[in-house]
Amino acid sequence: MPSARHRCRVFARRSLIAAALCAVMLAPVAAPARAAYTGPIIDAHSHLPKADAIDALVDAMKRHNIVKVVLLGVGGVQKEDLAWIQAAARKHPTRVIAGLPLPDPTSERAADELEAALGKTGARVIGEVHIRQVSRKIERDPGDGPFSRVLDVAGKRGVPVVIHDELDEKASTALAAALTANPKSTVILAHAGSLPPARLEPLLARHPNLLVDLSGMHFQRKPALASETGPLDRGWKTLIEKMPDRFLIGIDVWAPRLYEAAMLDRLMKWTRRVLGELAPAVAERVAYKNAAALFRVE
Ligand SMILES: [Zn+2]
Repeated sequence: MPSARHRCRVFARRSLIAAALCAVMLAPVAAPARAAYTGPIIDAHSHLPKADAIDALVDAMKRHNIVKVVLLGVGGVQKEDLAWIQAAARKHPTRVIAGLPLPDPTSERAADELEAALGKTGARVIGEVHIRQVSRKIERDPGDGPFSRVLDVAGKRGVPVVIHDELDEKASTALAAALTANPKSTVILAHAGSLPPARLEPLLARHPNLLVDLSGMHFQRKPALASETGPLDRGWKTLIEKMPDRFLIGIDVWAPRLYEAAMLDRLMKWTRRVLGELAPAVAERVAYKNAAALFRVE
């Protein structure tokens, strides 16, 4: 059996048209590359490593049309989180959505303190609250008395709570119970709870008050949505396109190394490229519209 290439060579000797047709037939079939997403982005999850870091972040945001950033506390590690976040919001009021840190979420006083702080600050998001973080040996029950009252206060005031919760079997069950017990509270599961998409899907399907931020799933960390230049993971693409109202994009910068201008450029460029692999209407929701609705951006 002569190969297509051999047949082409034989035909091509006879006519120019055949030669041209053969060239088209034998060209390698390239996957259609989608263009990067070009619309506005709200980074729904980042942190400051020090008071004056905000300027470098805002400069990078301007270069990449990231219109707003939600600044969150890091869970009691930095005592000055609240002051730094509020100073950043005063300096860049159109760029910064100030989160309200809750360093000690299981203290008996947490709910009362939260209520007072929400009244005083008018914060539109609470967190990041660490429920389970293996590296810091944090293991909390989101359904315990004090944190349940925190969820209740947040729900009554319509303010979402960002949680860091590395979900294994036991932690997933505990989170599901807390979501069921507090149906009016919106919980944003940071970094997709370290779950693969197949295990996240049933949680999202069962709990309409759960959203997911895709922060910290960039090429510098694991699990990642994509390598720096590789395609968006198929499982993630399928789930995000199936539930486009439930996902927020975020970068989760914190470490000073990630605050270097060249690294911020790489991370923001990657974010746009990955969003561009989603259907355009889905990309717009995940990049901007879901966060704008949730954080009441005008
Ligand atoms: Zn974070």
